[in-house]
Amino acid sequence: MSEDPGPTTAHDPVAAAPVRVAFVALGSNVGDRFEHLQEAARGLAALPSTTIVGCASIFETAPMGAAKFDFLNAVVALKTVVAPLPMLDVLLQLERSRGRARDEKWGPRTLDLDLLAMYGDEGSLAVTHPRLTLPHPEITARDFVLRPLMEIAPSLQVAGHRLDHHLATLPEHARTVRGRHGLPLLERAPFGVSVPLLEGG
Ligand code: AMP
Repeated sequence: MSEDPGPTTAHDPVAAAPVRVAFVALGSNVGDRFEHLQEAARGLAALPSTTIVGCASIFETAPMGAAKFDFLNAVVALKTVVAPLPMLDVLLQLERSRGRARDEKWGPRTLDLDLLAMYGDEGSLAVTHPRLTLPHPEITARDFVLRPLMEIAPSLQVAGHRLDHHLATLPEHARTVRGRHGLPLLERAPFGVSVPLLEGG
């Protein structure tokens, strides 16, 4: 008679992977901008062992730099076992699936996804890799990231300060938010994220 091998957790790479909270910024300024953001959020929610734990309002924002068209921007928080570099690959794949071309730096963007930060038991992950920097170095320089992020994680600290401090000290030219779009990014998504993992992050 063979012995019951019991739970396979120890050998299951997914079950053994650390659970983290990832914050992802979404932006679109061409085509059906709302649909691009919604499809991206649905794609993130469909990842294995991943749940949406926070979903900000969608914001209407003016283009920065040489970009010409207004953006819709939002931020979602995911509880996930997907590690940072595989998560970046997921974001790039979702961008491609919405027809994103990368030929023009300030060109119109059907979909732009940035991994803002990831938090685990170890606090905020610091990643310096040729393809990925975490936390994203420009979180604090963009109100179209700070405003939605503040909605879902108001106590978050980045670069040693709370988000409201960064927002208050933004120069005028970096203020792009015109207002809220009105429609929810995802139906029935939780609005705020209160994650013990974030304390002191
Ligand atoms: P862009 O779409 O112009 O913002 O640039 C995307 C490129 O930035 C990707 O191909 C990544 O390799 C790189 N990158 C570095 N850090 C990050 C990050 N935190 N989130 C997203 N892309 C990143």
